[in-house]
Amino acid sequence: MSTKSFNAFAMAQAQFDRIAELLELDQGTRDLLRQPLREYHFSLPVRMDDGRVRVFRGYRVQHNDARGPGKGGIRFHPQETVDTVRALAMWMTWKCALVNVPLGGSKGGVVCAPHDLSQREQEALCRAWVRAVARDVGPVLDVPAPDVMTNGQHMLWMLDEFEHIHGGKYPGFITGKPVAMGGSLGRTEATGYGVVFMLREALKELQLRPQDTQASVQGFGNVAQHAIELYHQIGGRVTAVSCWDHGAQRAVCFRKKSGIDLPELRGIADRFGTIDPQKAGKLGYELLPGDAWIEQDVDILIPAALEHAITDDNAGKISRRVRLIAEGANGPTTPEGDHILRERGIFVIPDFLANAGGVTCSYFEQVQSNTNFYWTKDEVLGKLDLAMTSAFIDVSQTAHQRKLPMRDAAHIIAIGRVAQACHDRGWV
Ligand code: NAD
Repeated sequence: MSTKSFNAFAMAQAQFDRIAELLELDQGTRDLLRQPLREYHFSLPVRMDDGRVRVFRGYRVQHNDARGPGKGGIRFHPQETVDTVRALAMWMTWKCALVNVPLGGSKGGVVCAPHDLSQREQEALCRAWVRAVARDVGPVLDVPAPDVMTNGQHMLWMLDEFEHIHGGKYPGFITGKPVAMGGSLGRTEATGYGVVFMLREALKELQLRPQDTQASVQGFGNVAQHAIELYHQIGGRVTAVSCWDHGAQRAVCFRKKSGIDLPELRGIADRFGTIDPQKAGKLGYELLPGDAWIEQDVDILIPAALEHAITDDNAGKISRRVRLIAEGANGPTTPEGDHILRERGIFVIPDFLANAGGVTCSYFEQVQSNTNFYWTKDEVLGKLDLAMTSAFIDVSQTAHQRKLPMRDAAHIIAIGRVAQACHDRGWV
């Protein structure tokens, strides 16, 4: 990680400013889109198991809803900041527009370390978060979902609280619910599988066969594990994964040159995606420093942990063999890091295309919840593949026509659509 100060929102605004220039947006549209429409900051008092009350900081940021109700996850993280939430909300707006779902962009967060909270304390925190924003979110306003360190159980507690407050059943209030409680089949897999749908299309452009490629992955959570699962199914081989070791408070990279065994590593990982280093060592994995994932001699890199993973400090360490980067995480590459990747001619599938499977499937879940009619897993994943592949083709065509990198092409499509919606509504 770079030691330079990093502000995700400043990065998101700088990205936006560049594209606003390319799109020649008028000043009013620029002023509207470079800030969130609304944001809520709140204190969440929670009675802990030992009887004390602890007050957590919570946020919901609604960046733009010109194309439809806001959509975006809730992250639980000890280093969460309002600027990270603002950036993630803006990126959600572009992502929903890019895959052309009728939704806007929002994001939520709580500054907390869920590892240190009991189940009961986590439940109390989820319910407190909903009580704080219950009148400003909802199926036709703003629909939350899971993100880093939140899961289906958290969503269900939040739904239950929302329904208590509003006195009815509103399964379309939140997505990422457990399947038995109105969730969608395929939602758990959707983000990671979507990364691989996009990777498959990019490999076609690069005229590479998946079975001839190897990959290194940062992260071993929901996105990473499902990306690895499908990548293995299409013939690829992952030789290194990294994760955050909460005990030691540092990242660790696990390498097996013959290829990692996904079920084996899943068996020794906790539900937050931390692999037990001692058990991995006994299973023959080399234990390397966390940053080693980026230096591996592979064809593909998949950052699927957090933002700020590929920077000007470490982009130079990427092996000459790397042809493709599929950004599973949100905002993993800084603009300076991106510049180096461009100069190196590495094909980058930008985050808001690569990981759009999550929100696309969340939209499918909303449709199913609102109509109370549920689809099969094959239907969900088939529709997901279709939606994402068409988005990839749109971006790739724009990139070729305008001689732009994929990231700029994707921004041009997405920001253009949002600006048009604001204009059509008469906002600007
Ligand atoms: P998760 O909490 O399930 O997993 C995060 C993983 O990253 C864990 O394995 C953790 O150990 C690892 N990690 C954290 N810091 C690290 C570091 N410094 N080095 C190496 N590994 C580190 O989260 P997730 O849901 O898999 O989300 C991962 C990323 O994908 C986030 O950027 C998230 O915003 C984005 N995303 C998630 C979804 C989704 O549906 N879950 C959708 C779109 C985007």
